[in-house]
Amino acid sequence: MTPEELATTVDGLMDGLRADLVRLSSIPSIAFPGFPGGPVEEAHDLVAALLRDAGVPTVERIDLPDTAPVVYGEIPPPDPAAPTVLLYGHYDVQPPGDEKLWRSPPFEPTPVEGGLRARGIADDKSNVIAHLGMLRAYGGRPPVGVKIVVEGQEEYGSAFDGYPPTDPGRFACDAMVIADLGNLRPGTPTLTTGLRGAAEVVVEARTLEEPRHSGEFGGAAPDALLVLLKALATLHDVHGDVAVAGLRREEWTGTSYTEEEFRDLAGVRDGVPLIGSGSLGERLWSGPAITVIGLDAPGVEHAASAVVPQARAKLNLRFHPRQDPREAQARLVEHLRSLRPFGVPLTVTPGDTGPGYEATTGGPAYRAALAALKEAWGTDASYVATGGSIPLVNGLAAAAPGAEVLLFGAQDSMCNLHAPNERVLFSELRNTVVAMGAFVRAYADGFRAGDRTGGEA
Ligand SMILES: [Zn+2]
Repeated sequence: MTPEELATTVDGLMDGLRADLVRLSSIPSIAFPGFPGGPVEEAHDLVAALLRDAGVPTVERIDLPDTAPVVYGEIPPPDPAAPTVLLYGHYDVQPPGDEKLWRSPPFEPTPVEGGLRARGIADDKSNVIAHLGMLRAYGGRPPVGVKIVVEGQEEYGSAFDGYPPTDPGRFACDAMVIADLGNLRPGTPTLTTGLRGAAEVVVEARTLEEPRHSGEFGGAAPDALLVLLKALATLHDVHGDVAVAGLRREEWTGTSYTEEEFRDLAGVRDGVPLIGSGSLGERLWSGPAITVIGLDAPGVEHAASAVVPQARAKLNLRFHPRQDPREAQARLVEHLRSLRPFGVPLTVTPGDTGPGYEATTGGPAYRAALAALKEAWGTDASYVATGGSIPLVNGLAAAAPGAEVLLFGAQDSMCNLHAPNERVLFSELRNTVVAMGAFVRAYADGFRAGDRTGGEA
């Protein structure tokens, strides 16, 4: 299929894809505890049916304990010389959060300028539909073998993350397209090359058996909240750069946001400067970040005039894609354990960790993807790391260690992912379908011509 034929075909498919995106996004498939399981099943069944209708001959359901069912589909390679591409997405969504902050009901897809608003319509249902669009564009017979994996509990964390290495034959492939993200900004085709790792740590200060009158005891009795705050204040230097030793930080060589764009995206208030030094890419992607994500201490409204006996904070650490999660977490734990604010030792408890990921670049699939993104958007692709992590990527990469991993998709940084008023743009969805179609064509052509040399990490 020539680029012109592909573009025309995809344009002709868009009405149907939009309708299917609306159907899928009307289902509140939230796989968090406390939410009903029916919609998760319903979304699973709809995705499986859509794939079957798109010509996928084998569609199976993978059931594992304590996790939502995974849709698995397979199209054999058209001939023995063709490569196999694994396509990934997820059909579950984040909970909508405070519905009062939504401008329309979260599970009633509603038109916005150039797109649609609904929970999960970008993350990640848009990309599930993009895979479907690619399959439809080729009438269910793409020029590569296809394995498609659409999981149902990505947002909550799933036992499926560790499954692929236990069943490597099923996930064997030459390249995979992990479509659970998208572009730096609408109209800027983006190949994501790295995902920072994540770790949590809880730090607690206990100073008194119980609260004591601040008039009678304050001044000598140690305030646990002040102890904790002094500890937290050591995590960054005066510029706001992370001051914990041993966390990897490297120069960022890809593209990044402009400062204005980032301020706008982050909703930074006028007069408030950004923190940290160095390029934004380094601060956001190739360097560490520590955020205090929770604090247990008396609330202001019901505060008693008493010395606080105990206080604790939950810290979220993000670190360089290639730093070992346990090691990064250990650096933060050691830092906190070495502190004695006012002479008081702290209790430090390491929590969950998730590895980062750094893709191999420069291989044939990478080159084919860059060309495909350019074909779809008409402009050169920039490459970018993102701060979020997709735990399954490492499981899939372990199951198919020789495969190139490509991260691109129909989302963009302005989609309000995990926030109220999530939206997706039709232009991005359409171009992603074209990019996927162009990718499988370019990759298959190169593969047949003998372009199978690996890239470099
Ligand atoms: Zn997602």
